[in-house]
Amino acid sequence: MDRRQETLIRRLAENHRLETEEYAALIRERDPESAALLAELAVAERRKWYGDAVYTRGLIEISNHCRNDCCYCGIRRSNRNCDRYRLTPEEIMSCCEEGYGLGFRTFVMQGGEDGYYTDDRLCPLIREIKARWPDCDVTPSLGERSRESYARLRAAGADRYLLRHETADPDHYAALHPPEMSFQHRMGCLKDLRDLGYQVGCGFMVGSPGQTAEHLAKDLTFIEKFQPEMCGIGPFLPQKDTPFGGEAPGSGELTCFLLSVIRLIVPRVLLPATTALGTLDPFGREKGLMAGANVVMPNLSPMSVRQEYALYDNKIATGEESAQSRDRLAERVRNAGFRLVMDRGDCARSE
Ligand code: SF4
Repeated sequence: MDRRQETLIRRLAENHRLETEEYAALIRERDPESAALLAELAVAERRKWYGDAVYTRGLIEISNHCRNDCCYCGIRRSNRNCDRYRLTPEEIMSCCEEGYGLGFRTFVMQGGEDGYYTDDRLCPLIREIKARWPDCDVTPSLGERSRESYARLRAAGADRYLLRHETADPDHYAALHPPEMSFQHRMGCLKDLRDLGYQVGCGFMVGSPGQTAEHLAKDLTFIEKFQPEMCGIGPFLPQKDTPFGGEAPGSGELTCFLLSVIRLIVPRVLLPATTALGTLDPFGREKGLMAGANVVMPNLSPMSVRQEYALYDNKIATGEESAQSRDRLAERVRNAGFRLVMDRGDCARSE
């Protein structure tokens, strides 16, 4: 690590910000030594706010129908090889019931942009979950919706919302999405969610086709300005039936480097060690935690549909990735030097 890298890292740890070009230089000139220093500072920062706690969220993949055609996604509408499913509200309730029994206190309802799940269907469902388990948090992750729809879900009891921005560069956004999707609209959705009082999660893929250090630097500047409560990043992983099926996967090493950087930009952020990281590398989850992540999201979806929610190839959905194997996951988290915590785990600043 040269002098300049070390200066940038120490300044980032001190001020929680850098110029966009400085982020790009940090990424381009990274080496194992600079990654180690960043991770050390990131872990110390996380410890300040969260001690050794790693929070869990129960992930329920409610539908793999989607009206969109994102070039990287295995459940895009034009993938004819995808077996479509949709959980009924009753099935979602029984996932929550099982999850609650296993100790989960946050349910992430993730799905494609499925027209079936209108506000009139989602709001009663959210209300019922909150009424039956008032100590639980409901986090929809259902893509772009109207401001009015976000307001209705919020009024029904949703506390958080996850919507990855995917890339903060408009041209790169256009390269990853079909023409009918708009960067401005995606950013507008994030602003609406923030205005409506949600705890908001953004995020992006690392190593998506065409991505450069300059694109990633813009993502980091966006995160610095937006100050999300959650931020999901994971390596890009190709899915064979998509236009990007032949592309190389993203890097786990760079993902971990960026987890450390994001921890230093927004010290109190809730930062998952994502399933994609665990799919790329059997120890990806642990490496993510050791780089500064503090959330894991095991799968609570019914076993019968888990293989169908294939955003990318070879996605892990059993073993420690399964909510039913919570004890094994707790053991692995403990072995990495942390403690698995089942409570709601709000962002420290909102407590
Ligand atoms: S990334 Fe999301 S919006 Fe895009 S096709 Fe996949 S599920 Fe649909």
